[in-house]
Amino acid sequence: MQFKDVCGQAKAKQKLIEGYKSGRVSHAQLFVGKNGFGGLPLALAYVQFISCANKSENDSCGTCPSCVKIQKLAHPDLHFSFPSNKNENVTHKHYTSDDFVEEFRTFLLEKPYGNLNDWHQQINLENKQSLINVDESQSIIKKLNLKPYESQYKFLIMWMPERMNPEAANKLLKLIEEPTPNTLILLVAEDQEQLLVTITSRTQILTIPPLGETELGTYLVNQHDLEQGEANRIAALSDGNLGLAISQLEKKEEEEQFFNLFKDWMRACYKADLVEMNRWVEEISKSSYGREGRKRFLEYALKLMRESILKNYTENHLSRIVGDESEFLGKFAPFIHGDNILAITEVLNDAHMHISRNAYAKITFMDMSMKFANLLRVKKRTFVD
Ligand SMILES: [Zn+2]
Repeated sequence: MQFKDVCGQAKAKQKLIEGYKSGRVSHAQLFVGKNGFGGLPLALAYVQFISCANKSENDSCGTCPSCVKIQKLAHPDLHFSFPSNKNENVTHKHYTSDDFVEEFRTFLLEKPYGNLNDWHQQINLENKQSLINVDESQSIIKKLNLKPYESQYKFLIMWMPERMNPEAANKLLKLIEEPTPNTLILLVAEDQEQLLVTITSRTQILTIPPLGETELGTYLVNQHDLEQGEANRIAALSDGNLGLAISQLEKKEEEEQFFNLFKDWMRACYKADLVEMNRWVEEISKSSYGREGRKRFLEYALKLMRESILKNYTENHLSRIVGDESEFLGKFAPFIHGDNILAITEVLNDAHMHISRNAYAKITFMDMSMKFANLLRVKKRTFVD
């Protein structure tokens, strides 16, 4: 990551660059701001700048061996530390960041503006909390005691240090106070208040402020191919948080995809077309959706079923559904009524539970499709004298 790739934050970049040029690189620094403001990308660009063999006045070169390795997050002198917890793959008690480093690389490359929730999803923590434990502190001390391999410095980027438990924080204190030579520790935090004062008082603090709407808008146009109007609209709703802007964008794209899936599914089920149903089940079972994607699709389907009922039974229902979805629901809603909605809801909720428990997607969705083929044909009973 070069400084030019980091959205906005001109002042913070300038401070870091000037500090380096004047030889005032503090060995322990704390970046504070919401993840979506860009603390992590800034830390990466800073490390890359310091370590670059061919830097210009204001940025790293992006092409020297050091830059190439840092861009791949595979530089032997760059270490990462972050919160984690046991999951289905890592089950031992003394887990450290090393157990999750591949996933963290993917996370950083794909979602440098992501938040803790995004990270939890990446490593399938479900509803568990994550923390930085004392085993991790021990592991950091070991790594930073080594001599740098290639760079002038050994770098440690610790993300979300507020997740250190007291034992871990106390163990790290000495290292932050008297670091081994040529060590640069960058703590990237959201909430300074949650850190021990003994830690914050030993670091140089850099505040990362919210991004400007114009900066956000321009970034969305250039990096996400948005039209200016749409980019401005999303920027205005994002509180200067690029992570939030990107997740709104992804949510919108996903809903469009889910809407098309839902339409195809309901058509195939209503026609009881086994070939189409089968094709559809193959599609939703593709690995690109993943378990979490399939769960979100089921939640989306539930939402459309509820909207259908409201459309049928509430006059002038104030719906949040607009555009193509609304047009489709106009035709679809009459098939959802008091005589099938309970069964439909139950089928969707059961499937959600099965998918959460790792049931085989193809079987779950085929079973549901067969049930819907029947349920959509249930006629609404009318009262006859
Ligand atoms: Zn370089």
